[in-house]
Formats: sequence, C-alpha cells, structure tokens
Amino acid sequence: MSKFLNDNLKGLEAYTPGEQPRDKKYIKLNTNESPYPPSPEVIAAVNAEEVADLRLYSDPLCKTLKEKLAMRYGVSYENVFVSNGSDESLNFYFMAFCSKESPVVFPEISYGFYKVFAELYGISYETIPLKSDFSIDTEDYIGINKNIVIANPNAPTGLTLSLSDIERIVASNPENIVLIDEAYVDFGGESAVTLTNKYDNLLVVQTFSKSRSLAGARLGFAIGNAEIIADLEKIKYSTNPYNINRLTLVAGAAAIDSDNYFMENCKCIMKTREYTEKELTKLGFYCIPSCTNFIFAKSDKISGRTLYEKLKDKGVLVRHFSSPKICDFNRITIGTQFEMETFIEKVKECLNENK
Ligand code: PMP
Repeated sequence: MSKFLNDNLKGLEAYTPGEQPRDKKYIKLNTNESPYPPSPEVIAAVNAEEVADLRLYSDPLCKTLKEKLAMRYGVSYENVFVSNGSDESLNFYFMAFCSKESPVVFPEISYGFYKVFAELYGISYETIPLKSDFSIDTEDYIGINKNIVIANPNAPTGLTLSLSDIERIVASNPENIVLIDEAYVDFGGESAVTLTNKYDNLLVVQTFSKSRSLAGARLGFAIGNAEIIADLEKIKYSTNPYNINRLTLVAGAAAIDSDNYFMENCKCIMKTREYTEKELTKLGFYCIPSCTNFIFAKSDKISGRTLYEKLKDKGVLVRHFSSPKICDFNRITIGTQFEMETFIEKVKECLNENK
C-alpha cells in the first residue's frame, strides 16, 4: 500500500475472484463459467470488420442491444440498463442508492462483492443470517425499510426463493430499492423481471457471463423502473460513457438473436447437474439442491479444504471458501458431461487416498 492511498480506503478488503491459473490446463470448475462456447452467430459477429472499427468509440446508448433486451424480456427500452459485467450494475446500485443514511442489507452468505461495494462507499450495511438449512428467511426482509440485495438463486448455496416471496419483500419495502441479482436464473430459477412493471422499487440484474457463455466479454444488464434506470445512466455518464466495448456490443446482440442455442445449453447443464448431484450423493456427499450452474457440496469423509487441494493436484479446480460457516463445502461449477465424469473419478481417488 502506498502512503498516498486515501485514509478511507486503507482498511478496504478487495473482492477475491476465483483463481485463473495459467500453469497448466485444468478442468476448471471454480468460477461458474459456461463449459460451452458462444453460439456460432456470436462468433461470426465478432469479425475482422468489427475489429477494424475499433478505432471508433462504441455506442454510448447501446441502442441495438437495449432494444433486443427490451424485446426479449417484454419491457420498454427505457427500462433497460447495460453494464460492463453485472458487477458494474451492482456497483452503480450501491453508489447511486445506498449511503450512510440509506443503509442496505443482504444475506450473510451470498455474493462476496456486496460487502466490498458497501465498504468501498462507506455505506451502512447489515448482513442477515441464513436459516440452518442455508435458505433465506423471507420474513427477515418484510418491511425492513432498508435497501435490500438478494441473489436469487443465491450463491454459493444455489438455493432459490419463489417469485411470490420476492414480491412480498418488494411490496413491503416501497420506500427502498430491492435489487434481485439473477446471475444464475437461467438454470432453473424464476425471474422477477415480470414484476418490474408493477413495482417501481425493484431492480433486476442479470449477466451474459453464465448462461450466455460471455464471461470474458463483460456484459450485464439491469431491468427496472425508467426513473431508476435513468439514475444508473447518470452514474454511467459520470464515470465511463463507453462502458461497453464495440466487440461486446455486437457479441451481446448476436447472443440475444441466438437465444435458443443458449437456453438449450442451460438445459444440458441442468441435466449434467442432476448427474453430478446423484453421483456425489452416492459417494456420501450432502449437496444443497441447486437451481444454478454449480453445486455446493460437503462430505463427512474429507474436509472442504483437503478435497479442494487434492483435486487441484489432480488438475481439477473447484472453489473453496475459508469462512467458518461454509468451509466444509466446495462450490463445483457444472462443466460438460465428460468433465463431470472425470471430476467424479477424481473425487473417488481423493476419498480413497484420505481413508
Ligand atoms: N452476481 C453473482 C451472484 C455472481 O456470482 C457473479 C459472478 N461472479 C456476478 C454477479 C458477477 O458476474 P459478471 O460481472 O461476470 O456479470
């Protein structure tokens, strides 16, 4: 740390992304990426002509992509915000709507970035414990009268809240904005986008990183009331008006055009998830029922940390979190069927070695 860093940032603990090692080729099941490439339409769209046009700035309005998203999700153009990954939508939400005087709450076990944003901006925040089965207790959020962020399905647990529970939370906090982070919704969750026409205090955030195989392109979006979206635009134009690069804009538009391809991939991933859960259960693991492209699992026969380390030695990366409440678990991204068969074989080896 340099002596120049602002005092208020000296204690900030930054977000730690999952490992992206370059030392050897791993079966990478640690950052919830898609095992499938983008659609042929996306690959064709990012062509030499588009690369040549990189001398020009990108469209700050993101008009074509916004129009396609509005059509796909049954909302108006004014209800859509496009961001550099969904992390940027989350960032702008914390920056625009939360503060010392306008506190925010989120589940104790959830996406680690929420806490980082809250601390970065000096926002008053509270974390709400999960129930003993790791589910969110809807009642904790009813009429809480604070801003609320909920990942639905939640990460890293994989559990989902019903749309009627989300609606009760939103309806009971009309003076605050409820952000529903739907990064994993395409793998079996129920989207709250349909409620955005009815409630002006709901913001739904989604990403192209998981179900649409575009993690490296950095593209996310938010859907909500036009006034909230205008506020997010104001933040964008005050920080980085060209937040989406030209190649990502064309890739995103082509991805919406080939939606069927991606939704079919999601079905494959859900099928492979069922297979993986069944095999892990046979090996004595406890798997939290998942509505996402990952499984959160633990075993009495091997610690979370040991399994993570042994798998890494064998060329399989999963994600282990060291915080005490979840350190028995590993979060395992669903890869291709072949990758998951290999993963199961490697887990068997780890269990044998650990006897
Ligand atoms: N929300 C959740 C719950 C996530 O797990 C992630 C992925 N790390 C994100 C948001 C951010 O994804 P991205 O910025 O790639 O859209």
